[in-house]
Amino acid sequence: MVKGFSTRLIHADEAGGAVARPLTTPIYETTTFTFESAAELQRYQDGGGGFLYSRYENPTVVALEAQLATADGADAALAFGSGMAAASTLLMALTTPGDEVVCGSAIYGGTFHLLNGFLARFGVTSRFVSPEQMGDLGAVFGPRTRLLWCETPSNPTLRCVDVRTVAAACRAAGVMSVIDNTFASPVNQQPLALGVDLTMQSASKYLNGHSDVTAGTVAGPAALIEKIGKTRRLLGGILDPQPAYALLRGLKTLAVRVAQHNANALAVARGLEGHPGVARVWYPGLESHPDHAVARAQMSGFGGMVCLDLEGGQAAAIRAYDRMQVVRRAASLGGVESIASIPVLTSHYGYTDAQLAEGGVTRGMLRISVGLEDAADVLADVRQAIGQ
Ligand SMILES: *Cc1c(COP(=O)(O)O)cnc(C)c1O
Repeated sequence: MVKGFSTRLIHADEAGGAVARPLTTPIYETTTFTFESAAELQRYQDGGGGFLYSRYENPTVVALEAQLATADGADAALAFGSGMAAASTLLMALTTPGDEVVCGSAIYGGTFHLLNGFLARFGVTSRFVSPEQMGDLGAVFGPRTRLLWCETPSNPTLRCVDVRTVAAACRAAGVMSVIDNTFASPVNQQPLALGVDLTMQSASKYLNGHSDVTAGTVAGPAALIEKIGKTRRLLGGILDPQPAYALLRGLKTLAVRVAQHNANALAVARGLEGHPGVARVWYPGLESHPDHAVARAQMSGFGGMVCLDLEGGQAAAIRAYDRMQVVRRAASLGGVESIASIPVLTSHYGYTDAQLAEGGVTRGMLRISVGLEDAADVLADVRQAIGQ
């Protein structure tokens, strides 16, 4: 050690002097927290609150969770390192061997593989049901059914399930209901107010909104959230303070962003309906969408996702995809930049024709996450990309 160089560490509570009251939430970039005394540690262990270790709780993350709970109209919420960490922790917390999960067939691929391949290894089986069966769940549920999982609007055709009907059927049968609300966001749809037990979201999409944070969330009643929170401690899927800060910042503009996504997507969907080369536009805000009435009854906006079915099948979809100039070619959704994806090359890659037909997916589909550019620019770009 260099002579005269002090290695004494200055602790955070020795620095500064005046008490700072920041307007925004600081990033508590620390794994662990100090205690004044054994008595204070004992109080923490007795449930008196405070902080011990950032895998359990962290002030930046706690602030984020309060904001997420507010957005979902929930007692409480939890933040996770990804949407899949949220989904897997929720399912591991609330199911035991012998239980069955009933799930809408049109769900995110990761959730499908989690239910179909992974949870089965722990004795939790899954059954996948069509949107039509979702309307009569009383006839679907068996004696072992413990939990219902459903996504609405679904990927990529934005089919909507009547959430009130699903929630009522679950309540009557004593089955826990979970809605993956990622596509709608809490601005457009409030599943808890419609009667379901829990909402789950990939915060990597609209909640953060800038395509620069991978995160997930679960929200609902305090008792259920506490149970899932205990499992999160074990599985270790909590979000880090740095992305929690970024997500908190994204949430501040959620309402205005989603309002603009809604307006832009509706303009793009309307502008492409009946356009040469477009066989069909799937957007729940269009009267032509099969679930328009359901969407109107339970959503306050129709979201930023539009799905096109092009005449000419996969070749036409690939051609349009490659010719886009404003819209970028990328997976994911819900960000400021418009992005396009081809379902059969992304979410539905490797599916057989029968599996595609079951999910209502065609090889000519092009999915667009309409961003916050000028809607006229996005529409013109998609039109020129499809053009002959
Ligand atoms: C992206 C997504 C997920 C998974 O979230 P990650 O943050 O990528 O782990 C789950 N459900 C839906 C509907 C999604 O779009």
